[in-house]
Amino acid sequence: MLSHDTRAAGTEPTHTHPTAGFNTRLVHPQADGDPYGAVNVPIYQSSTFAFRNAAHGAALFAGQEDGYIYTRIGNPTIRALEDTVAGLEGGYGGIATSSGLGAVAAVYMALLDAGAHMISTASVYGPTRGLVEQHLARFGVQSSYVDTSDLARVREAIRPATRLIYVETPSNPAMQVTDLRAVAEIAREHGCVLVVDNTFASPYLQRPLELGADVVLHSVTKFINGHADVVGGIIVTRTEELQRRIRPLMVNLGCNMDPHQAFLVLRGLKTLALRIERAQASAMQVARWLETHPKVSWVRYVGLPSHPQHDLVRRQMRGFGSMISFELKGGLEAGVRLMDGVRLATLAVSLGGVETLIEHPASMTHAGMSCEDRVAAGITDGLVRYSVGIEDVEDLLADLDQALQAV
Ligand SMILES: *Cc1c(COP(=O)(O)O)cnc(C)c1O
Repeated sequence: MLSHDTRAAGTEPTHTHPTAGFNTRLVHPQADGDPYGAVNVPIYQSSTFAFRNAAHGAALFAGQEDGYIYTRIGNPTIRALEDTVAGLEGGYGGIATSSGLGAVAAVYMALLDAGAHMISTASVYGPTRGLVEQHLARFGVQSSYVDTSDLARVREAIRPATRLIYVETPSNPAMQVTDLRAVAEIAREHGCVLVVDNTFASPYLQRPLELGADVVLHSVTKFINGHADVVGGIIVTRTEELQRRIRPLMVNLGCNMDPHQAFLVLRGLKTLALRIERAQASAMQVARWLETHPKVSWVRYVGLPSHPQHDLVRRQMRGFGSMISFELKGGLEAGVRLMDGVRLATLAVSLGGVETLIEHPASMTHAGMSCEDRVAAGITDGLVRYSVGIEDVEDLLADLDQALQAV
């Protein structure tokens, strides 16, 4: 059997600057030490890699030697990204994927057998739920969707067949926050793997593996790349054992990242902390401004003391991020006017980029859910999602102000 790993068994990634802080690791990815002194990790745009001789090829396939065989299995540019993000999350190793959904699919398929049951945050990213309900259900996978911020609901949902607990926190777009340490405890008691979608927070703001999670995944399309020019994903496992369960599935599913994608993500990643610091400072100002606006009925931002889990957020996250959800008093119709009225914020799905984006979950990202499921997940018809970018905050406020005047 092929090991399907690019790394010989037992060798953990070691950072070139093992004691370095977060920002230093962002700027100096693991592949430092290029023979020509290249400051950036080169793009190894090659589908296949030559073996020195037959014995070398055999050793690579047997996983006895570290090296590269074929880019779907592993590639130096992709590996630099995998090792860097694994280091940022404090995990054993990374598995880069073609998209965030590719990461979700690989994790589900590796960890769920026919007849297995999983529990998920109800307001999880729409296609993350659709993948189970519309596709894996055909293979006998069962799933329950609960408000994972309520630990009693998680406990009630456990069945003998439960193998996986899947949490998105803060959740999209309801901004509900789940206590990861507490859910990790429940998962351990029942022999379940805890998977956390850390897309909304990024490893800069939250490190689920340190709180007891087993697997972390990201849509790197969002904060990690941050420039709205790449779709990609990554999985980080806490242990070598989980790496060896999930990586072969990714390789056989064929949802690998491409070297050029990995290069762009490594470039975007360098400014992750700077981008987040700037965007979250602006988000706090925008959220406060919205909260006092007469046409806004409520604002949900984890940085506001009015957020129901603000204390938990302070314990669990290092900052508040830049995602805001809010509802206008005029409901859906008012929300549509606002989205058509903004001139600076771009009306588009996605989030976590340098540019401010606005969207309407009920008619766009979460339109695939039934009305009842949306209500249960806290996604009201008038909810507007606003992803704050790094523009001048005065311009963002002026833009919202002129658009709200027309509402
Ligand atoms: C966007 C997103 C995904 C899916 O990622 P893609 O890169 O679009 O495939 C998964 N989870 C969350 C929270 C997301 O925002």
